[in-house]
Amino acid sequence: MHSLFISDLHLHESRPQVTRAFFHFLATQARQAHRLYILGDFFDTWIGDDDDAELPTQVAEALDQLHRNGVDIFFMHGNRDFLLGEHYASRAGMRLIPDATLIDLYGRRALLLHGDTLCTSDKDYQEFRTLVRSPAWQQQVLAQPLTARRALAAQLRDKSQNMNSLKAADIMDVTPEEVVNQLETAQVQLMIHGHTHRPARHNLEANGKPAERIVLGDWHDHAWCLKADETGLELYSWPIPD
Ligand code: MN
Repeated sequence: MHSLFISDLHLHESRPQVTRAFFHFLATQARQAHRLYILGDFFDTWIGDDDDAELPTQVAEALDQLHRNGVDIFFMHGNRDFLLGEHYASRAGMRLIPDATLIDLYGRRALLLHGDTLCTSDKDYQEFRTLVRSPAWQQQVLAQPLTARRALAAQLRDKSQNMNSLKAADIMDVTPEEVVNQLETAQVQLMIHGHTHRPARHNLEANGKPAERIVLGDWHDHAWCLKADETGLELYSWPIPD
């Protein structure tokens, strides 16, 4: 019995090879798992569960098929797909989980996050996050016609790429003190997150004891996955064919 963790696939019509790699993953590796955790930025943009585009429809069908094959699927929002709602989750056979969520991983407690809340040095982003996560902002956006929301999503996508290209590398990574803070608040020694696109396993100290932070990788040239079972944890990758 084992669980798999993935994040930051950034599924988008412009990168069909990533969608193909994901469908292959669902039909092979994921079938063997007991649970699949998707830790955010699964879709590169999300304009509402009523989006009738081909990509979200095909992805929902493929995920629901996996769910029907007996795999429990959990979904956490990222900073790109935070508007994904209960309606789509249910179509895709997934359960939405909050950021952060504490789980029992075969006798070991683990704190799951997307990762953007760890990047506290990026004040502009944290302000933006507070705004777009407010129910008032979300209701106002979701009340607009699909065409208007498509235009807004394209705008936000450009803005995010421009903002990030201007920022120093250390602002884009996690704040080490915030990692310790969240581990100590949750009283846990293991954290799993994505978002930074810097896949690695980091040893640190929290609660006066050894702790570990595992960062999932984004799906770009390679696909990344973390496997957890009774014997331990393995972070691995494989190339995505063109
Ligand atoms: Mn992210």
